[in-house]
Amino acid sequence: MALNNLINTAREMGCTVAEQASMAQVTTFRVGGPADALITIPDADTAASLIAQCHQEGIPFFWLGNGSNLVVGDRGIRGAVLRLDPKVASVTLTDDTTVYCDAGMTLQRLCLFAREHSLTGLEFAYGIPGTVGGAVYMNAGAYGGEMAQVVVSANCIARDGKRFTLTSDQLALSYRHSALMDYPTDENPIVVGVTLALQTGDHDAIASQMKELIAKRQEKQPLEYPSAGSFFKRPTGYFAGALIEQAGLKGYRVGDAQVSEKHAGFVVNRGNATAHDLCHLCKDVQAIVEQKAGVKLEPEVRFVGEF
Ligand SMILES: Cc1cc2nc3c(=O)[nH]c(=O)nc-3n(C[C@H](O)[C@H](O)[C@H](O)COP(=O)(O)OP(=O)(O)OC[C@H]3O[C@@H](n4cnc5c(N)ncnc54)[C@H](O)[C@@H]3O)c2cc1C
Repeated sequence: MALNNLINTAREMGCTVAEQASMAQVTTFRVGGPADALITIPDADTAASLIAQCHQEGIPFFWLGNGSNLVVGDRGIRGAVLRLDPKVASVTLTDDTTVYCDAGMTLQRLCLFAREHSLTGLEFAYGIPGTVGGAVYMNAGAYGGEMAQVVVSANCIARDGKRFTLTSDQLALSYRHSALMDYPTDENPIVVGVTLALQTGDHDAIASQMKELIAKRQEKQPLEYPSAGSFFKRPTGYFAGALIEQAGLKGYRVGDAQVSEKHAGFVVNRGNATAHDLCHLCKDVQAIVEQKAGVKLEPEVRFVGEF
C-alpha cells in the first residue's frame, strides 16, 4: 500500500516507474531478480521528497547508480530502487577549475566535460562505467588516480529527506571506501551533487592520456563479457588477480560465473550466470586463495537484495 503511494507520487512528480523491474537489465553483471519498483528521478528536489516519503511511510529503498559494482540477489529487491536519471544530469563550471556535477551523471560524461574545458585530474576515471555518485560512494580509482584526489564536497540527502553537505574530510575517502559505507546499508545518505577541484591542463595531453588508458583497459580487461570490474579488493601488499591466478583459478567456473581467462581479477558472466553462481564462486575463490596464500580476499562488489 505504502509502496503504491510512493509509485503514485513518483509518477505525479514526473519520474519513470517500472514495477517488477529486472535488476539484471540495470546492472553491468546482468544478474539479479526483480525490484518491486524501479523509480528513475529527474532531479535532487524530487529525490529529497521521495526519500522523505519513504522515511515517513517506512518504505525500504536501495539507491542505484549505474549498477556497475553490484551483485543483486536472484530474488531481487523488496521495496523501491531509486536512481537519478543520467540523461538529465548536468555539470557546470563554478570557477576556472571547479566543477559542480549532478551525481547521476556518468563518469564518462564528466570526464568529457573536463577534457572539453582542458581540465586535468579526471583522466584516470574515463573508463570507469559508474555514475559520479557511485564513484564517490566507492572512491572509485584506477591507474594511480582516485576520486579522493578531486572531490571537494558532496551535496547529500539524509534518509529523512533533509539536505546537507559533506566535505572531503567528512567523506573520509580511502581505498574503495567512503564514510557513506560506514552506515548500515539502509541508512546511508544519498549523494545528489559533487563539487570537484581540477587543474588547468593541455587539451591534447588530456585527450591522449584518456585514449591511452582506454586502450590499456581494452587490452587487459574482459570487456566483452558482463562483469562488475575487479571482483575483489586489492589486499595490502598483493594483487587479487595475481593471487587468484597463482592459486590455479584462472577460468574457474561455477555455472555461468567464471574467473576471467583474460584477467583473473575479474569475474565474468558467460551467459546466464545467477547471483547464486557468483556467490558460490566468490566463496570458493576466497577459500582456495586463503588456503594456498594465506590471504583473505574481500569482495569489492556490493551484494544487495534477496539471495
Ligand atoms: C568493466 C568495468 C570496469 C571497472 N573498472 C573500475 C575501475 O577501474 N576502478 C573502480 O574503482 N571501479 C571500477 N569498476 C566498478 C564500478 O564501475 C565502480 O565501483 C563505480 O564507482 C560504481 O558506480 P555506480 O554508479 O555504477 O554504482 P552502483 O554499482 O550502482 O552502486 C555501488 C554502491 O554505491 C551506492 N551509490 C550509488 N550511487 C550513489 C549515490 N548517488 N549516493 C549514495 N550512494 C550511491 C549504491 O547504493 C551501492 O552501494 C568497474 C566496473 C566495470 C563493469
